[in-house]
Amino acid sequence: MGKLISIVIPCYNEEKTINIICEAIQKTMEQVDDMEYELLLVNDGSSDDTLEKMQKLAEKNTRIKYYSFSRNFGKEAAIYAGLCNAKGDYVVTMDADMQDPPELLPKMLEILETEPYDSVATRRVSRTGEPLVRSAFARIFYKLINRISDAEIVDGARDYRLMTRAMVQSVLSLSEYNRFSKGIFAWVGYRTKWIEYENVKRVDGETKWSFWKLLKYSIDGIVNFSNVPLMISSYLGIVMTFVSFLAIVFIIVRKMIFGDPVSGWPSLACIITFVGGIQLFCMGIMGQYLSKTYMEVKKRPHYVICCTNDDEAQKNK
Ligand code: UDP
Ligand code: MG
Repeated sequence: MGKLISIVIPCYNEEKTINIICEAIQKTMEQVDDMEYELLLVNDGSSDDTLEKMQKLAEKNTRIKYYSFSRNFGKEAAIYAGLCNAKGDYVVTMDADMQDPPELLPKMLEILETEPYDSVATRRVSRTGEPLVRSAFARIFYKLINRISDAEIVDGARDYRLMTRAMVQSVLSLSEYNRFSKGIFAWVGYRTKWIEYENVKRVDGETKWSFWKLLKYSIDGIVNFSNVPLMISSYLGIVMTFVSFLAIVFIIVRKMIFGDPVSGWPSLACIITFVGGIQLFCMGIMGQYLSKTYMEVKKRPHYVICCTNDDEAQKNK
């Protein structure tokens, strides 16, 4: 019997693109011989007609399964839900907006079938069509995170990735609440082949990621995969203590030699605010780690599925 491939698509307000992507996938998979597919559409609490469209598509094509969240849980939760419910020997995750071209799938499948790899990942080599500020911040983020974390995170890597069952099981075994997929994929290892393509524009609709959402996501990425910020705050503490010790020695010596009266209140005020600022900054860093730990220990489910056509769905995870 042929192998089964599961295609996971997170969708948040994608009423304009969902039909296009499903049709494109259907067409692509017709060209792949000897392989069955299932299409897992995860509705991440859309406020538009995405769910209705999914239900209509599922009526026409029995390979389509939909899972609808009770609210917006975020793309990471949607991908996780898809991976939890996928049954395929191979699993691929892709965006709903055609920015991850389905036409690449046959090539990716062939690589896994014929070459000794466990995963085929994609990266875009250009960011044309994206706001300049966003590209600049993205570049800074990748430089920074690669410097301070153990997991190697590739610049321009997309969440468009084909994996073997073994790798999917490993990804699922990291059941952490704060998920940063790019880091998780890198962390589990396995032999990965990278293929590159030019950036493609979204077919319709608009991006769901505001600047602030991306900034928060990038902080998540750093906090999840690096302890360096914590180390920086303790190093800063050591340096400040050393500097203040030097200053004390300096003041005592000056007093003994020159007998200076007390002076320099403005500089004192500056020093106090400076040190206060650094303390708050370091507490903020600790707070970030603490809040992540808090969410982890609560062990809340990653998502809540309120409506699905898959009887065996793992509803709460
Ligand atoms: N997405 C999601 N939940 C969210 C935000 C986005 O499931 O809260 C999905 C969205 O439907 C799309 C994918 O994540 O399939 C990528 O989103 P988008 O194209 O808006 O991001 P961009 O390509 O601009 O980074
Ligand atoms: Mg997109």
